Amino acid sequence: MLVIDDAIVAAVPGRVAVTVRDGLIESVGPAGTVRRADAEVIDAAGCVLAPAFAEPHLHLDKALLGGTASSLQGAIAQTALRKATFTHADVMDRAGRVLRMALAAGTTLVRAHTEVDPGVGLVGVEALLQLSEIVAPYMRVELAILPQEGIFVRPGTLDLLRTALRNEGTVVGGCPYVEADVDDARRHIDTVLDLAVEFGRPADLHLDFADDAADARFALASYLASAVMSRGLQGRVTIGHATSLGSLTPAALALVADRLAAADVAVVVLPATDLFLMGRNDDRDIRRGLAPIGALRRAGVRVALSSNNVRNAFTPSGRADPLDIALLAARVSYAATRADFEEIMRMVTIGAREVIERGAAGVTPGARADLIVFDAHDPDQVILDQPARRAVISNGRLVYQEERRRRWSAWSLENPENPAA
Ligand SMILES: [Zn+2]
Repeated sequence: MLVIDDAIVAAVPGRVAVTVRDGLIESVGPAGTVRRADAEVIDAAGCVLAPAFAEPHLHLDKALLGGTASSLQGAIAQTALRKATFTHADVMDRAGRVLRMALAAGTTLVRAHTEVDPGVGLVGVEALLQLSEIVAPYMRVELAILPQEGIFVRPGTLDLLRTALRNEGTVVGGCPYVEADVDDARRHIDTVLDLAVEFGRPADLHLDFADDAADARFALASYLASAVMSRGLQGRVTIGHATSLGSLTPAALALVADRLAAADVAVVVLPATDLFLMGRNDDRDIRRGLAPIGALRRAGVRVALSSNNVRNAFTPSGRADPLDIALLAARVSYAATRADFEEIMRMVTIGAREVIERGAAGVTPGARADLIVFDAHDPDQVILDQPARRAVISNGRLVYQEERRRRWSAWSLENPENPAA
């Protein structure tokens, strides 16, 4: 049993003690009232206790490659060349370094979009499956199998996708916009959703990634929503980027947003990458190239935020810290009020978690005990303060503690034993 005592929790008056048993939050009560000889106690000392972060859209296989590009197509082409040099050990090493950053930031749940194609084969998938087992005591990492270079323009990819999906817990990825024309892009969506039905898995597609929907391959959100509903996949499908939605007229957007809400399709906005790669052909009045977060939310669409890439041609920056992404999103989405910041915090915590798993979440009895103690005293100011993480609790266990940071890095591939346990 674990007790986090003397904590401040948003929307709960006074200081609280949170008890944790068997990986779940058991109770949330007044501070100082829990006395259990058998309990490990974390003294939060009046600091903010919040739900842990989740990253529903993170590319671990191509993280930390460096390089840069001035267009999406350039980044994909450059990465295709780099993928030819990937080895099992190299992917494990780069991905492991990113997961250590993520854990120290307070992330305990990750969906890693992992590429398959005839060039890279299953190298990324196999390395990340092994890594996910190593890190399982600290964080849960699931793989979305991504045909980034297409299914029909890259013959052989479908077989690799099917092979990878035989691994339990994997998610069907997709990237329809790289196909040769809109008919193949639609076929790509149908194929991905059919695989989701066949394997009984969720689907998560890089649906579109353009400044506007002038090219019909980047205007398939309504088509996808209908395809989801016709297969009964409501609540099981996520789309990433969807930047072209930002270019629609309010009337056109309202129609698409209503379709996405009806199909319960979640949208993951990836501002660090979207801001870097979009608007590149605008020589003035440069577009932000982001999915319209506010309009989607008001239509009832589930929206989350995530890091996407960390230091590669798609995104030269990044620390795998959702709090950094939250501040970026706040700055580019006109966030100003307490409610705005609350909503953005939700999009990197509970909202991000819901993309991967539904169920009780938050600092509330019955929820999974995935929690962060921030070195901050005001829950409303956490995004603005960007405070250090004093402690991270995953599945009811203390997995990271700031005080011990100098004596150990959260874990390493060489020594995966957790010194905080
Ligand atoms: Zn992505």
